Amino acid sequence: MKDFRRLLRHLAPYKKYVGLNILFNILMAIFTVVSIPVFIPFFRILFGMETPISVRPEGIHSLDDAINMANYTFSQVIAEHGVSHALLLTCIVLVSMFFLKNLFRYLSMYFIAPVRNGIVRDIRQEIFDRMTILPLGYFSEERKGDLMSRIVADVQEIEWSILNVLEAVFRSPVIITGAMFIMIYMSPGLTLVIFVLMIFSGVIIGGISSRLRRQSGELQDILGMLVSTVEETLGGLRVIKAFRAERFQQGLFRKINETYRDTQTRIIRRRDLSSPLSEFMGIGVVAVLLWFGAQRIFAGEIGAEAFMAFLLAFYNVIEPSKSLTNAYYNIQKGLAAVDRVDKILDAPGGMPEIESPQRIHKITEGLRFENVSFTYAKAEQPALSGIDFFLPKGKTVALVGLSGAGKSTIADLIPRFYDVTEGKITIDGVDLRDVQVADIRDLLGIVTQDAILFHETVRNNITFGMEATDEAVKEAAGQAHAAEFIDQLPDGYEFNIGDRGGKLSGGQRQRLTIARALLRNPQLLILDEATSALDSESERLVQEALDILLADRTALVIAHRLSTIRRADEILVLREGRIVERGTHDDLIEKGGEYSKLVQLQGLG
Ligand code: ADP
Repeated sequence: MKDFRRLLRHLAPYKKYVGLNILFNILMAIFTVVSIPVFIPFFRILFGMETPISVRPEGIHSLDDAINMANYTFSQVIAEHGVSHALLLTCIVLVSMFFLKNLFRYLSMYFIAPVRNGIVRDIRQEIFDRMTILPLGYFSEERKGDLMSRIVADVQEIEWSILNVLEAVFRSPVIITGAMFIMIYMSPGLTLVIFVLMIFSGVIIGGISSRLRRQSGELQDILGMLVSTVEETLGGLRVIKAFRAERFQQGLFRKINETYRDTQTRIIRRRDLSSPLSEFMGIGVVAVLLWFGAQRIFAGEIGAEAFMAFLLAFYNVIEPSKSLTNAYYNIQKGLAAVDRVDKILDAPGGMPEIESPQRIHKITEGLRFENVSFTYAKAEQPALSGIDFFLPKGKTVALVGLSGAGKSTIADLIPRFYDVTEGKITIDGVDLRDVQVADIRDLLGIVTQDAILFHETVRNNITFGMEATDEAVKEAAGQAHAAEFIDQLPDGYEFNIGDRGGKLSGGQRQRLTIARALLRNPQLLILDEATSALDSESERLVQEALDILLADRTALVIAHRLSTIRRADEILVLREGRIVERGTHDDLIEKGGEYSKLVQLQGLG
C-alpha cells in the first residue's frame, strides 16, 4: 500500500481536476441510480398493475412520501391524458436522465485526461532528471537499455494500469452504494444474499490476481533486457557485422523475445480469467436471485415490478463491481512498474556534499593527489594505490601506461565521478570533498577519447548548454581549426551532425570537442587523447588545435602522442595502479626504464 500512496502523491498538483472528476463521477453515479426507479411505473403499466392513487400525500418527509408523490403525479397524468401519453412521458424522463448521466460521464473523463497524462509527464521528468544527477558508478551496475525501458515502457504501464483505476475508484463505489440502497429498500433479505455472494466472488478473484504483481515485474525486467539488447546491438553494428556475429546477436535477441512472449502469455491468460470468471459467478448470483425472487413474488412479499427494478439495480451493480475487481488486477500489474521506477528515484543522488561546502572559482596554486588509493565497488583489486603528484597552475602533467594501468581512473576522480578510497585530492590545499561539487565541475573542461557528441547542431555541440555569443563560438572553432570545415557544411553552424556526430570525420569530431573545451576556457583541463590514428593532415590539425588548447593551461593529459608527452612538464608512468617512474621525457629516456620500453613498444618517437 506504501507504493500506492506514493503514487497518489503525484495527484497533488492536479487537485482541481481530480475534484472536478470526482464531482462529475458522483453526478453520473447519482443519475445512474435514480434512473432505476423510473422504470417502475413503466413495468406497472405493462403488467397491468396500475392502481390509480387519488390521494395527494401531504408534504414530503420521507422516501416513502417522495415515492408516493411521484406515483400520485403519475396517476394524475394517466387520468388526464391517458396511458400512452404517460408511457411517452416516462420515456422522455428516461432519455433525459441517460443524457445527463452520459454527459457527466464524459465530463468526468474530460477532466481526468490531463491528470493521467500530467502524472505520466511528471514521473518521466522525475526519472530523467534523476538519471542526469545519479553518480556515474550507478550506471556501471545498470544496463542502459533497461533504464530506457523504465522511462518509456514502465511509465506507460503505470498510465495504463493504475491511472485507469482512478475512474473505477471514484465512480464505482458511488454507483454500488446507490444501487444497493435501492435494493435494500426494496428487499433487505435478497440484498443480503447478493452481498454475501459478491464478497465470496471477490475473494476468489482476488486470489487469482495475487501473483500478478510478481509476474508483471518479471515481464518488465525482460522488456528491459530486450531494449538493452537492441541498444547494444545498434551501438555495435559495425563490430557485429565485421565479426559476422549477426547470428549470435539474433540468437540472443530471440531468446529474450521468446521469454517475453511466454511470460506475457502467462500473464494475459491469468488476467483474461477475470472476465469469464466474474461473468460466470455473476450469472450464478443472478440464478440464485431469480430463484429467491420468484419465491417472494409467489408469496406476495414483493411485486413483480419492484422485483424487475431490483434486478435492474443489481444489473447496475455488476458493471462497477467488475471494474473494481479489474482495478485490483490492474493495480497489481502497475505496482510492479512502480517498483522498477522507484528503484531509480530512490537511488542515492549525486556525490555527497558536506554541510556548508567551500566555494572555489579559480585555481591559484594547483591540484594535488596525496597518497590516493581507489578501489571500484565490487572490485577485488585496487585500481589505484599510493598515487602522489602535484600539478601546479599553468603546467601539464601527462599520464602514460598500458591500457588498464589506471589512467582514466585518475581522471575520473578529479570531477568526483568517484571518491577516493584512501588519501585525498586537493585544489589549492582544499580537499575536493569539502568543495561544492558544482564548483569543481565548473573549473573543469574535459575532452574525452571518443568525442562525445550529440544528435544536434554544430553550434549546440560546441556551446553544450553554455550561454555564448556567435562570435565566441566562431572564435573557439577557429582556434580549434574547426572553422574551415564548419563553413563548408550545408548549414554551417546550424548543421545537424547526426547520431554521435556520425556525419563528421574522426578528426573533425575531435576538433569539435576541442572547440567546446576552448569555449569554456577551463581553469583545469582533463584531456584524454584519442588513440585512433588519423591521417597525417588531420593529425596535424588536431595537434595544432591541442597545442592552442594546452598553452599555459593547467592540464592533466592521458597522452598517446609523443608530441603531447614531450611538452609535458612531468610524466607519470603508471603500471597496475602505481606510479612506477616520473620525470621529463628526456630524463626518462635517458634512464632507459619502463618509459623508454613503452615508447619503443607503442612506437612513440
Ligand atoms: P586505463 O585508463 O589506464 O586504461 P582504467 O583507469 O580504465 O585504465 O582502469 C584501471 C583498472 O580499473 C582496470 O583494471 C579496470 O579493469 C578497472 N576498472 C575500470 N573501470 C571500472 C569500473 N567501472 N568498475 C570496476 N573496475 C573498473
